Amino acid sequence: MSALLEVNDLKKHFAVRGAPLGFGTVLVRAVDGVSFHVERGETLALVGESGCGKSTVGRAILRLFDITDGQVVLDGQRIDELSPGPLRPLRRRVQAVFQDPFSSLNPRMRVRDILAEPMRNFGLADSKADVEARLDALMEKVRLPREMANRWPHELSGGQRQRIGIARALAAEPELIVCDEAVSALDVSVKAQIVNLLQDLQQELGLALLFISHDLAIVEHMTHRVAVMYLGKIVELAPKERIFAAPKHPYTEALLSAVPMPEPGAARKRIILKGDVPSPINPPRGCRFHTRCPYAFDRCRVEEPELRSMQGGRLVACHLHDLPAAQNPLAGSGPH
Ligand code: SF4
Repeated sequence: MSALLEVNDLKKHFAVRGAPLGFGTVLVRAVDGVSFHVERGETLALVGESGCGKSTVGRAILRLFDITDGQVVLDGQRIDELSPGPLRPLRRRVQAVFQDPFSSLNPRMRVRDILAEPMRNFGLADSKADVEARLDALMEKVRLPREMANRWPHELSGGQRQRIGIARALAAEPELIVCDEAVSALDVSVKAQIVNLLQDLQQELGLALLFISHDLAIVEHMTHRVAVMYLGKIVELAPKERIFAAPKHPYTEALLSAVPMPEPGAARKRIILKGDVPSPINPPRGCRFHTRCPYAFDRCRVEEPELRSMQGGRLVACHLHDLPAAQNPLAGSGPH
């Protein structure tokens, strides 16, 4: 059976007028050749610093814009080239939960109407009684009291609004939910509750999640695999246990060095990356990470590394792994 979602060599370049010298048009290579898949019932986390292109990948999958190149395949069918008519039934199967639950809920609609809208749009409820029964079930699923369906979004807390955002996604009966920084704006304790809710719903409903986040500490608790993006490309993709036990890309190593260890007293050596993320308008030649990589050597400045398979279902784009183990600082330190 094929994966639920396949993304093949996805590119999204935006033409931006006026930058950086004030005139003309330049291309922002927000996503520049990204491939991955998501299995049914699986969580794949897409992580990286702000501006790495991870949210653009999510929005491309949701078909919020046309892509520049590549393919987005849902359950064996390409959705990147479908016109609005044929796309409609497939849209139901991929829903989204966004970062800011306040701006993503229509302030002029009560919760009950927000949740009933996808049921009507996708023809899922066939009577008023059916809508009411579905509303009851949704409020129960996201663990909110039924009376709250009569409220307006501004009468809810941030956590309650995000639960309604999740309920609205579930109302369409999706198979995949794109969670784009879905817990980033929430307080620490509320964040943990929403992560637990998403995990429970995933198990209960067999959902697949694409969990887009800059926060590796959150990702560690809820994902099966992790894809790390830098400047529009995936640099490492592996099962969560492998990535967290022994990163094999220097960028992943640096990101992980900032994540607190679960055991009291344990600590990772903190790696502070020098410089800023280069502009996606003019990414560095060779390895895109070489301007900040503590291990960069001559080859990195001229030749772009390919994303290649290693043991244990891991993919890495780094020339270090062509060096003898004794010269590779990321060769030993744990499972491949
Ligand atoms: Fe660093 Fe070179 Fe690996 Fe790029 S290819 S991550 S610059 S060691």
